[in-house]
Amino acid sequence: MHIKTLVLDKFKSFGRKTEIPFYEDFTVVTGPNGSGKSNIIDSVLFALGLARTRGIRAEKLTDLIYNPGHDGDEAAGNGPLEASVEVVLDNSDGTLDRTQVVNAAGTDNVGDVDEITIKRRVKQTEDNYYSYYYLNGRSVNLSDIQDLLAQAGVTPEGYNVVMQGDVTGIINMTPYERREIIDEIAGVAEFDAKRDAALEE
Ligand code: ATP
Ligand code: MG
Repeated sequence: MHIKTLVLDKFKSFGRKTEIPFYEDFTVVTGPNGSGKSNIIDSVLFALGLARTRGIRAEKLTDLIYNPGHDGDEAAGNGPLEASVEVVLDNSDGTLDRTQVVNAAGTDNVGDVDEITIKRRVKQTEDNYYSYYYLNGRSVNLSDIQDLLAQAGVTPEGYNVVMQGDVTGIINMTPYERREIIDEIAGVAEFDAKRDAALEE
């Protein structure tokens, strides 16, 4: 399974609806400082529910909505009131099977599961804000998305996304801490936890 397309609409610096293609295996995004490369990664974490606002460099969810005055060159406060990010996953290798998608969506009506779309919207009103998740167009909860992705090995605690600074962090760890990460990625940590729990009983 891999990301096929990202559709950003009024997300951070993406003031216009922008479709970004991703290739199987390897895609590189290049551009000058401040051009929005990291915002693309933030958008994936946002849409897939993999990070809290701090992890995507925002104090509150509504900071993620495109703000024409963000860099102080235009009057702030007259921007759009809604942002969305859609992640289109190519699941043609069957990483997730139909039943898993149907269970997460809570309906049989999920269409073709060769392609899975996960979308998140954040909407601002006068005195509140709202966040919505969709799976193949069906409204779902964050936990539905997280449970589904966990079955493909994608979790908030996982190392699916290596952030700026993570590499230096890993280099500076003690060998024991580094080993814990490898256990986590290899899936051994889960069994260690279960064994410890069993021994305690
Ligand atoms: P670098 O090479 O320095 O890492 P980058 O390409 O990763 O740069 P980003 O961090 O993705 O750049 O983008 C930063 C830009 O996004 C800044 O110019 C910032 O003003 C802009 N930005 C962030 N949030 C918003 C927002 N809500 N509305 C408009 N622009 C925003
Ligand atoms: Mg960056």
